[in-house]
Amino acid sequence: MSTFASPLEADGSGSGTAGNDARDFAGPIRETVSATRAVFTSGVTRPLTWRLAQLKAMNQMLLDHRSDFTAALAADLGKNPSESWLTEIGFLTAEIANTAKHLERWLAPRRADVPLALQPAKAHTVLEPLGVVLVIAPWNYPVQLLLGPVIGALAAGNTVVAKPSEMAPACSAALARWIPKYLSGAVTVVEGGAPETTALLEQRFDHVFYTGNGRVGRIVMAAAAKHLTPVTLELGGKSPVYIDDTVDMKAAAARIAWGKFMNAGQTCVAPDYVLGTGDALAGLAAELPRSIRAMYGENPAHSPSYGRMVNDAAFTRVAGMLDRDLQQDGMSALVCGGHHDAATRYIEPTVIHVEVGAALMEGEIFGPVLPLVTVDSAQEAMRFINARDKPLSIYVFSEDRGVRSGFSEQTSSGALNFGVPAAHLSVPALPFGGVGESGMGSYHGQHSVQAFSHRKAVLDKPLAPDTLAWIYPPFGILKRQVIERFVAPARKRLGNG
Ligand code: NAD
Repeated sequence: MSTFASPLEADGSGSGTAGNDARDFAGPIRETVSATRAVFTSGVTRPLTWRLAQLKAMNQMLLDHRSDFTAALAADLGKNPSESWLTEIGFLTAEIANTAKHLERWLAPRRADVPLALQPAKAHTVLEPLGVVLVIAPWNYPVQLLLGPVIGALAAGNTVVAKPSEMAPACSAALARWIPKYLSGAVTVVEGGAPETTALLEQRFDHVFYTGNGRVGRIVMAAAAKHLTPVTLELGGKSPVYIDDTVDMKAAAARIAWGKFMNAGQTCVAPDYVLGTGDALAGLAAELPRSIRAMYGENPAHSPSYGRMVNDAAFTRVAGMLDRDLQQDGMSALVCGGHHDAATRYIEPTVIHVEVGAALMEGEIFGPVLPLVTVDSAQEAMRFINARDKPLSIYVFSEDRGVRSGFSEQTSSGALNFGVPAAHLSVPALPFGGVGESGMGSYHGQHSVQAFSHRKAVLDKPLAPDTLAWIYPPFGILKRQVIERFVAPARKRLGNG
C-alpha cells in the first residue's frame, strides 16, 4: 500500500495544504481507507504470526533508519540524538519488545464463571480486532506518538491509517518514506493538515485515536460520533507539581528541571507549574538555576542538549505570555532565564514566581517556562488543582505520608507520580491517558491491545440436558418457586431482607 500524498505534496515537501479544503481530498482518501479496510477484511491480520511480523518489521524500520528519524527530529525540534533515542526511537523499540514478548498471553481467552442456574455451560472472553484504526498524531513527539498507538493497533490485529502532524514536516516525511516500505498493507500514511484530517474523519473507522489539543479533540469526537466510532483522546492541559520542604531540594529540583525543560518544555506530561509553601518554593528556586546550569551549561542557547520551539507561532505564544507577566507590575518575579530569540525560536529555560492571575497560569504553557505559585498548605494546593480541569498528571514531591495520601484520595488526574515527573510513560504496565479535559481512554503495553480490541463474550451451553426447561413458559407455581429460589433468588443477596 502506498502513501497517499495530497495534491500540494507533489513536490515531496510534506506538509503545506493551505487553501485546500477537505473536498479536494475526499476521493483519494476514500480509496486509501477502503484499501486499508480490504486488507483487514481479508482476514490476514488475525493470526498472531502476522501481528508479530508487523511488530518485527516496525522494529527493523526504526533500527535501519534510526539516523534518518534522528535527523528529522533534530530538524523539526532541535532534539539531541540521545533525547530522541530516550523519548522516541528507543522508547518505541522497548514498547515493541514488551508487546511482542507478552502478546500471546494478552490475547489468550479469559475464562468467565457461569452461575449455577446456567450450568452446565462454559464461558470465556476473547479479544477481537476492531477493524481499521485512524491514528492522528501531534508534533511534539512526532515519531513516538504516531507509532506508539500503531504498535497497539497492529498487535490487536487491526490495520491502520496513520496521520502524522504537519507541524513536524521532516518527521512526517520520514514516516511517510519508510512506513510503506516496512508495513505495507498494515499501515497507510496520509500526510497533511486540517483539510486532510477533516476528509479522513468523514470516513468510517472502527476506532479513532487522537493525540493533541482539546479543541481538535472535540472536532474528532464529533466526527466520530456520526459513525458511532469509539475514540481515544490523548489530550493535554496544565500538569501541576506540589512540593514541600520534607524533600531533598537538590534532587527534586533536578527531577523537575529534567521533566520541564526536556524538548524545550513541549511535552504533554511536563510539569506546567509548581505549587508550594513560601519556604519550599524559596528552597526550590535556589536549586533550580543550578540544575539548569548542570544540564544545559551557562548558556543553554549553545547547548546541543537543549531544543527549540517547534515554530514561530509556538515561540510567539510562549514568549508573549512570559513578557506580559514580566511587564505587569507585581505579577511576577524572575528566578532565572527569561531571554528569548525569535530568529532561532529559542526560549531560555525560565523559572519565575507568579501570581495566580498571571498569563502563564491561564492555559497549558507547552514551553520552557516554569511558574512557581505560593500556597499556604497541601490542602490549599489540592483545592487549587481541584478548582481547575483534571490534569494529565500530578507530581508530588513530599515525604509526608499524609500529604501523599491526601493527593491520592482527594485529587483526580490521568496519573499521579511521587518524586518524578513524566517517567510513568516508560512503565508499560501503567495505562497512559487522561481524565476529563485531559482526555479519555488509555494505552501502552497491554492497555494498548485492550484499547484497540473488542472483548467479546462467548457462552457455550450444551443443548442436553436442557436445564433451562425450568424457565420456559408457561409459568406455574412450581416454576415460580424454582425461579425465585434457585434461578434468580433476589432476596438476601445483599443482606437486605
Ligand atoms: P498538532 O497541531 O500537531 O495537532 C494534532 C493533530 O491534529 C495533527 O495531526 C493535526 O493535523 C490535527 N489537526 C489540527 N487541526 C485540525 C482540525 N481542525 N481538524 C482535524 N484535525 C486537525 O498538535 P497540538 O494539538 O498542538 O499538540 C499539542 C497538544 O497536544 C498539547 O495540548 C499537548 O499537551 C497535547 N499532547 C497530549 C499528549 C498525550 O499523550 N496526552 C501527547 C502530546 C501532546
